[in-house]
Amino acid sequence: MIIIMERGSTPENRQKVIDLLEQNGFNTRINVGDIYTVIEAFGDKTTVTPGRVAALEGVREVKIIREPFRLASRDRKEEDTVIEFPNGVKIGGNNKPVSIVGPCSIEEDYEGLLKVAAAAKETGCEFLRGGAFKPRTSPYDFQGHEEKALKYMKKAGEETGLLTVTEVMDASDLPLICDYVDVVQIGARNVQNFKLLKAVGKRSVPVILKRGLCSTIREFLLAAEHIMYQGNPNVILCERGIRSFDDKYTRNVMDIASIPVIKKYSHLPIIVDPSHGTGQRYLVEPMAKAGIIVGADGVMMEVHHDPENASSDGKQSLPVPMFKDVMKRLNTLTERLHYEKTCLSANVS
Ligand code: PEP
Ligand code: MN
Repeated sequence: MIIIMERGSTPENRQKVIDLLEQNGFNTRINVGDIYTVIEAFGDKTTVTPGRVAALEGVREVKIIREPFRLASRDRKEEDTVIEFPNGVKIGGNNKPVSIVGPCSIEEDYEGLLKVAAAAKETGCEFLRGGAFKPRTSPYDFQGHEEKALKYMKKAGEETGLLTVTEVMDASDLPLICDYVDVVQIGARNVQNFKLLKAVGKRSVPVILKRGLCSTIREFLLAAEHIMYQGNPNVILCERGIRSFDDKYTRNVMDIASIPVIKKYSHLPIIVDPSHGTGQRYLVEPMAKAGIIVGADGVMMEVHHDPENASSDGKQSLPVPMFKDVMKRLNTLTERLHYEKTCLSANVS
C-alpha cells in the first residue's frame, strides 16, 4: 500500500505508521517531499488492513496497489474460469455465450412455463430460469410459490433437458433449493447479504451473483470473493444494471463497460441481464447484443407465455414469438463472433 501523510504530519506520526507496518512483516520505504511524505509498504494486508493504517494520526490517504479481491483476481489466476455442467454445458473462457431464459416468477400455470421452456430448448438455450422465492419491493406484490414452484421448475427442466436456475433469498432455504435446481442465483438486493454469500460459499453449487443496485465493481467482486473464500469457486457474475437518476425511460442503467472491466481484473465468467438492466421489452435485444459484443459469457432474459398477465416483471418480459425471433438473431451474432474469435486465435498461434 501507499500511505500519503498529511501536510503537517510529524516525524512521530510517520514513525508510528512505519512501526506498525514493520512489526507486522511489511517492508517500508519513506520518501520525504517538500510538502508531502509518502510511505510505500509491501506486505500481507490481512495482518494490517489499509483501514487500520488510515486511522493513525497524521495519515491523509492510503492507496492499495493490489486488488482486494484476491481469489477472484486475474493476478491470482490468469486463465478464465470455465464452469462446466454434467451435461457438457460450459460457461466462460472461449465457450459460446449461454442463454438463460424464463419467466420472472414461476406461476400456477405449468403449461405456460412449459411453453417457454420448449421455446428455449428449440432455440438452443441452455438454462431455464424462474423465481420461486421473490424479492419484491412491496409486501403486497406477488412473493413466489416457493416449493411448489421449485417442483415445476425441476419438472420443466427434466421434460426439456434444460439446466435450471432460481434465486435464493435466505440461507435456510438453500438445502431445499439445491434439491431442485442446478444453479442458484443471488439477486441484486442480496449482493451484500454476507451470511447468504457465506452459506452458498460452503457448497459447490454454481452461483449466479447479480450486481447490486448500487454496487461499485470492486464491491461486486468482493461479494464474489466472499463466496470463493468459503471454498466455492463456481461463481458467475451478472451485470443487471445499476440505479441512476433516469427512471422514466429505463429501469436501471445497464453498465456495459463493466463487462470488459471485470474481464480485465477478474477471471470469473460474467453474463448480462438486459431485462432487469433496462426494464423495457424493446431494449432487451439491443442490450443483449451489446453485452455479447463486449465479451459477456451469456445472456439472461425474462420470457413469459403471457407477459400482460405475468405476476411480476411483465413489462420487460418477451412474449414467446418475439423471444424466438430475438434468439434467431442472437444465435447468428454469437456464431459469427465465435467464428471470428476462434479464427483470430488460430491466426495468432
Ligand atoms: C430476477 O432475476 O427476477 C431478479 C429479481 O433480479 P434482480 O435481483 O437483478 O433484480
Ligand atoms: Mn424479474
